[in-house]
This record gives sequence, C-alpha cells and structure tokens, in this order.
Amino acid sequence: MSAEVAGPRQIVFASRNAHKLAELRRILAPVLDELGLELIGDTGAGPVENGLTFEENALIKARDAAERTGLPAIADDSGLCVDAMGGSPGILSARWSGPGRDDADNVDLLLWQLADIPDGARAAKFVCAAALVVPNTEEIAVRGEWPGSVLRERHGTGGFGYDPIFLPEGETRAAAQLSAEEKNAVSHRNRAFVALAAQLRSVLAG
Ligand code: IMP
Repeated sequence: MSAEVAGPRQIVFASRNAHKLAELRRILAPVLDELGLELIGDTGAGPVENGLTFEENALIKARDAAERTGLPAIADDSGLCVDAMGGSPGILSARWSGPGRDDADNVDLLLWQLADIPDGARAAKFVCAAALVVPNTEEIAVRGEWPGSVLRERHGTGGFGYDPIFLPEGETRAAAQLSAEEKNAVSHRNRAFVALAAQLRSVLAG
C-alpha cells in the first residue's frame, strides 16, 4: 500500500508573467510560510477579459484559474487612469492604441491626446486590483493605487508600459527612472498585493 505524502497546499497565480510571480512570492512570503502554502504559476490561456472594472477583470481571471485547477487562485488587473480623460485608458491600458500595437505606441498616443492639457491638469494614477477566488468558498477583490501625473515626454529606461511618462506624486523622477526595488516598494501592484495578503490570512488560515 502506498502512503500519500502531503506536500504544501498550493495556490495558483493566474498569470504567465514570471516577473509578476516573483514579485508576488516576495510580498506574500510571510503569509505563505505561515499558512504552509506554495504559490505556483499558471500555464492556461486565460479567459476573455470582458469586465468593466479592474476588480471585475481580476475576478474573471482568478475564477477561470480556480475552475481549471481546483486550487485557490489569485489574479491581478492594472492600468493607468488619467483624470483629464475621465479615467481612461483604465482597463483598456494594454490595448489603448489598438490590436498589434505595443507599449511604445500606447505612450505615443497618450502623449498626443494630452498635448494641450496644461501641466496643472495632468493628474493620473496607476490602479491595480488583486483578486482571490477559493473554489466554492469565497471571492474577494482589493485595490491598490499609485497617484501621480503624466509627463510631456519620456524619461528613463526602466520598468514597462507607461512608466517613462508617469511622475509619481512626491517624486522628481519618472517611474522608469526608479530602480525595480524603489518602484516595487510603492507601486499600485505592491499596495494591492499587500492588501491581498491580509485577506489570504483570514480566508485560508486553518
Ligand atoms: P496588466 O494588468 O498586466 O494586463 O497591465 C495592463 C496595462 O497597464 C499594461 O500593459 C501597461 O500598459 C499598464 N500598466 C500596468 N501596470 C503598469 C506599471 O506598473 N507601469 C507601467 N504601465 C503599467
């Protein structure tokens, strides 16, 4: 008779982005240790993201991963919200300049759209929703925000997406001029994942 050896309980992160997985493991390390959980990546194709809010899209991705794997699942959804544009590009941030376009095209389009907006009216924020779905048990979404404004031209070479044109509140450097450690300590994603860690503890303890 073969005895089954119980490994750590697993929880899946609904993303194929290895950098995000490493970042999430770092932020959740204390709670994962405490609860005896192992955070694994996801290889699935991912669902259509047809929600109307960051929270809805994060929940759609987490629900899909939880259904496919039978495991508790975490997902995130993020973007840049510009006040003068009524919160756009928002949930459309990744696809702002259309199919087949990339981060550089998205930045070019946003700079052009904001060209006539004066310096005092260029407020924006990065937003990240993080969701936790435990099969047949619980669905939770939390949000992290990183306030700042949109610059008139690119600065720096770090980060990704809109980082070269985002000036965080209280900073003299664009997000793309911060080190990864500096950005990770204050970013919208960090704030959302830290909030999620507290939820994980209360939902999965025991
Ligand atoms: P996703 O949540 O990974 O799908 O990100 C959506 C899009 O929002 C990205 O493609 C970027 O355009 C933008 N975005 C989200 N987070 C950041 C960030 O930390 N820096 C720059 N752009 C970001």
